[in-house]
Parts: sequence; C-alpha cells; structure tokens
Amino acid sequence: MQAETLKITVLGSGTSTGIPVIGCRCAVCLSDHPYNQRTRCSALLSYGKYNILIDTSTDLRQQVLREDIRHIDAVFYTHSHADHVHGIDDLRGFNLRSKIPIPLYGSEQTLATIRSSFRYIFDESEPVSYIPRLELHPIDQAIELFGIKVIPIPMQHGRMQTLGYRCGPFAYLTDCNSIPSSSLDLLEGLELLVLDGLRFTRHNTHFNIPQAIEMAQKIKAKQTLLTHLSHEIDHPVHDQELPDGINLAHDGQHFSLHVAPIK
Ligand SMILES: [Zn+2]
Ligand SMILES: [Zn+2]
Ligand SMILES: [Zn+2]
Repeated sequence: MQAETLKITVLGSGTSTGIPVIGCRCAVCLSDHPYNQRTRCSALLSYGKYNILIDTSTDLRQQVLREDIRHIDAVFYTHSHADHVHGIDDLRGFNLRSKIPIPLYGSEQTLATIRSSFRYIFDESEPVSYIPRLELHPIDQAIELFGIKVIPIPMQHGRMQTLGYRCGPFAYLTDCNSIPSSSLDLLEGLELLVLDGLRFTRHNTHFNIPQAIEMAQKIKAKQTLLTHLSHEIDHPVHDQELPDGINLAHDGQHFSLHVAPIK
C-alpha cells in the first residue's frame, strides 16, 4: 500500500479570548496583520476522505465557513474548557447534511463534563432536528479510525489532565504546562508538532514561550508551531526571533505529511 497524505489545517491559533481581545487597545489587538487575528484554538486533520476535528472551539462556525469544511467524521477533545468546546452546537449543521451522528472522543472526564454542561444535547426528549446528534466514546489508549492510528497523549494543564493527540508524524499538544516522561516516549520521530506557547510571561496552566521552546527542543520534531497565542504575541515581530525549526502558528495554515499505512 502507498503512503497516504495527512492534511493538517490550523483552524484557530488564539487563546481563550480570541485576538483581538474585546475592548483591548494594545498594538497587537489593533494590528491589521492577518496573523495577529486569532480565532480560538482548534485544528482539522484530513485523511483520505475523512475529516477529524480537534475540539469544537467557540469560533467553530467561522472556521468551518472560512475553510469550506463540508463534513466532520469525528471530533477528538483535548479537554472541557469553554474555548475548546463551546462551538459544539454548530456540529448540528453537519448532522443535517450527513443524517448520521458524529462520534466524539476524549477522556472519560472530558466527555462527562461535556455531557453535563450540554444536557440538552444528550437529553433524548429533545426533537432531533434541534440538537446536534453526537455519540460519546471515552478513550484512554490508541485507537484506529478511518485507517489511521490516533494516540492520546496525557498532559498536565495546571491541575487538570488534558489529552494531546498523535497521528503518524504529527502531534497536537495544546493546553499544557507539563508533559510527563511516559508521554514524551510517545512523541519520538515527529515531522510536525503543534505545541501550546501562550505568551512570554509565566502562566499557571500553559507553557510560556521560553518553556515551549525548551519542550520543543526536547521533543525534537522537524518543525514545531506554537499555538494558543495571546495578545502579547506580535506575529511578524516575534516569529522571526524564534530558534530554527520553531515558528508561531497562524489561523488558516495548511500542511501535508505522508503517513505510512497501518499494516
Ligand atoms: Zn484553551
Ligand atoms: Zn490586546
Ligand atoms: Zn484549557
């Protein structure tokens, strides 16, 4: 079998507020550089004819329209914070087209929180046309889906555990400020890594830029992109100052990687 192509789209590269921040008059929030406009953090993986979404960000609708995404075949959740989940209702648009439920994957804890936060979705008394049709699939180990292996990568986000995901030579690790060595063992030989790098100043639940650089140099992916960026980050200025092989992510960025088929 020939190697297949995994296409990656950075749907959103912004922190929980989005950039510009509501009401902020700082230089980055006022900047008209397109890479300083950031929707909430999310990514799309396309493999064969399948689209896998990582998180349903608050800005999901805008991201889907911008990238002309016509179907979503599965969603993998990193954790249950609002900026990664609150676009969930817009999955309904995909159900209306496909007429089939969308499977959601994530840790038991994340899916339990989503279920209790969005009771109307999972309450069977609601008319089906008013709600997204979603199926919950808790995972704690690698699964094979649509011919590709998806490996959950446990991480710490302050006191909360989050999941990153690895697919072939790609890994997506957002909302973390520490990665245990058992997870680092799952991250060898990456071509592309998307990694949390919130801002320059320290934060209790996110890597800042110096910590993200240190982690990227430990993981040693060929290319690393920092995401979940705050308004401290002025893309055209700060991107140039990063070490070789490390860059800032921006909304709408596309990559294609070759993935060896599963035997
Ligand atoms: Zn977040
Ligand atoms: Zn600002
Ligand atoms: Zn978070």
